[in-house]
Amino acid sequence: MLDPDAALKILEDFEFTPTVEVVPIGEALGRVLAEAVRVRVDSPPFSKAAMDGYALRSSDGAGRYRILEMIAAGDVPRKKVGPEQCSKIMTGAMLPKGADKIVRVEFTRESDGLMTVVEPEPYANIIQRGENLRAGDPLLGPKVLSSQDIGVLASQGYASVPVSLRPLVGVIATGSELRSAGQKLMDGEIYDSNGPQLCAQVQAMGARWRSYGVVPDDPEQLAGTIGHGLRDCDVLLLSGGVSMGDLDFVPRVLKDLGAQILFHKLAVKPGKPTLFAQKERAFVFGLPGNPVSTFIIFEVFVKAFLYRWMGISSRLRVASGVLTEAIKRRDAQRLEYRPVRLEGNSIVPLSYHGSSHLSALREAEGLIRIEIGTTRIEKGSELNVRLL
Ligand code: AMP
Ligand code: MG
Repeated sequence: MLDPDAALKILEDFEFTPTVEVVPIGEALGRVLAEAVRVRVDSPPFSKAAMDGYALRSSDGAGRYRILEMIAAGDVPRKKVGPEQCSKIMTGAMLPKGADKIVRVEFTRESDGLMTVVEPEPYANIIQRGENLRAGDPLLGPKVLSSQDIGVLASQGYASVPVSLRPLVGVIATGSELRSAGQKLMDGEIYDSNGPQLCAQVQAMGARWRSYGVVPDDPEQLAGTIGHGLRDCDVLLLSGGVSMGDLDFVPRVLKDLGAQILFHKLAVKPGKPTLFAQKERAFVFGLPGNPVSTFIIFEVFVKAFLYRWMGISSRLRVASGVLTEAIKRRDAQRLEYRPVRLEGNSIVPLSYHGSSHLSALREAEGLIRIEIGTTRIEKGSELNVRLL
């Protein structure tokens, strides 16, 4: 059994040079920015009013000011502000020459082309040119683009951005007992949940997916479909058939197809039989059939690899909280990921009866990590939760 962190290191040590495509920013949400982009224009590009009010010289003090003009957002000021003069200015408008302060409109009175300051204005209320960003500085580095990032890019005039090509991820559910949703279940059969779940997990992280449906535990049929998958896809996800049973043909079929097994069996719970292999430019994960294992192994291992494939290291989103009940376990030989729910600052372990208990994940919001050798975590312990 390989140490799970060593397995993760194998996956994260791959150096892929992503193929870059340029997409409009309207299609860039969730995509991986492939190259660092720089600030194109100072932000703001000119010194401007942070408030509606009157632009004047701060050295002038209290008194009455002659109003020279009205400057709206988008206007270019025409007049320089001199002593005892001011210009009426709107939020976002360009600061006129001579002025270094804006007295907010609430602190003034206006009549007959004159403005009187009735309350002292303590602030300058000016956003200086380049105060937020300077042209030439780094703007964004390779990362998964969020909605805010799209805003930041648009604010810099980027209409399109270079993003990494998304891998095509094939999904094959293996098992003679499996029927697809919509079909009638016969005795001894269950619905294939891993296939649709894996496709959804791939989709949720912004990669492309292709379902190959269900393949029975038959070496020839497995070899046929896996062979197709290896030819067509960048990464292939298989569920089921990787453990020790008489009908677990996946490792043998992969070897027969010329794939090199890079690891098989991890000291992790759930998901011990996990397998990872490579054939030329295609990579294969053999995930254990138990649905909770499939889900968790994807989250922890497959996701990290797919992000690597797109040229970045995945950044975990983590919360911390206090455990509401003690966690005990007898077997501490494996690293364990356990699903939890969050309630404010509390971490509530989900009652989960083993790795077939998929419905326990309905409430899952995160995973906690129980280290090898740990048999008990006390109630009230402060823990980190890896958010799903
Ligand atoms: P296996 O890894 O093939 O030994 O399967 C382990 C358990 O997971 C068995 O109870 C299977 O019936 C179940 N299982 C395998 N594949 C799937 C699937 N695609 N959807 C739901 N359950 C599955
Ligand atoms: Mg099976």
